[in-house]
Amino acid sequence: MTEREYKVYVTPDGRQTVVDPDFDFIPLLPEDFKIISQPPPYDFVPSYQRTRKIVVPGLSAEDLSQINTHDLWKMHDRALKEGAMSSLSSGDLNLLDLKIELARREIQNCKLCGWMCAVNRFVQKGTYCGLEAEAFYSSLIAHIAEEPVITPCMMIKLLGCSLRCKTCNASEGLNLEQGKKLTKSVWDEMKEINGYEKTIALQLFGGNPDESVFSILRVLKGLSGDFKKPIVWNNHGYGSKTIYRMLQGVVDIWMPDFKYGNNMCGREVSGVLDYWDIAVQGIEQIINHDVKVIIRILLLPGHVDCCYKNILEWLSSYSDKIFVSIIDNYIPDWKALQDPNLNRMVPAEEIERIRDLITYYGLRDVWDNAKDFWR
Ligand code: SF4
Repeated sequence: MTEREYKVYVTPDGRQTVVDPDFDFIPLLPEDFKIISQPPPYDFVPSYQRTRKIVVPGLSAEDLSQINTHDLWKMHDRALKEGAMSSLSSGDLNLLDLKIELARREIQNCKLCGWMCAVNRFVQKGTYCGLEAEAFYSSLIAHIAEEPVITPCMMIKLLGCSLRCKTCNASEGLNLEQGKKLTKSVWDEMKEINGYEKTIALQLFGGNPDESVFSILRVLKGLSGDFKKPIVWNNHGYGSKTIYRMLQGVVDIWMPDFKYGNNMCGREVSGVLDYWDIAVQGIEQIINHDVKVIIRILLLPGHVDCCYKNILEWLSSYSDKIFVSIIDNYIPDWKALQDPNLNRMVPAEEIERIRDLITYYGLRDVWDNAKDFWR
């Protein structure tokens, strides 16, 4: 992989913000910079390791072509619910194999995101995500400043996204030609990244990873049995029910960006329909998976009353099941630079109101409550 380039913003008051800093960037940071880390317990076993040991009763590779997708989903749900670990004998399919087959079928009539455009991605590009069947990534990053419970974090930056947020700080990720095809060689490549051995989690982000689930699952199948890092899925919150169903038993930490507290702002800023309806349906689904959930909220200027208040109030019903992470260092980029409502920083008083609302609604900020995360 070629050397990384860094994006560094300098604000009018002289503050510098680097996007996705990694171990190579440390010499350029102030001497008092510290990596804040709250690792998982030493005996942590990632969900997908268990999933690939669950035998799907009555399913062999030869059977697959005879079974319709509806029935395969039923077998999937049953195996997830009842699946005990057992030793595979030759010819048996495990639950991860079944998920890969389901992902292969789903992208032939793709409804993985809220657009539900029903494209066959083996023959044409997704209408909004622009992706065919294969996934592409632009970089591997051993990130040193994500949320403490996943830092340092090994990250795969996938290309392609079905949203077009005016505020995107990774718009270069829409150009798939600049990426490398995702194959299982990524695991060897990852080990060459400076700091890899110190990382405590593996994060899929982008772009957005949902649209690339078929390739990601196939690649996960090739990951070694002694890999112990939790898998973190950072998506845009616009995934359909199918994506969350497919990733149950694969993802250990869900980290959706909850962007808008109503459908209108989703349309205005990200160009998507029904954002709120789709996001709440997806987040409810993952909360019921009984996994770790961090809801990320990237604050934009002027959206406290229309968006964040609604989001935090809605999340308050799940305050004992989730953590929130407020990203308050927004800097205008891409199309936001031409939009007077977005071409400004978030005022300090808005950040303060959000902090007060988090307390008011009894929510736990993951930065302040990292010690409780793995309990
Ligand atoms: S991921 Fe979304 S945009 Fe892409 S093909 Fe599927 S439904 Fe369409």
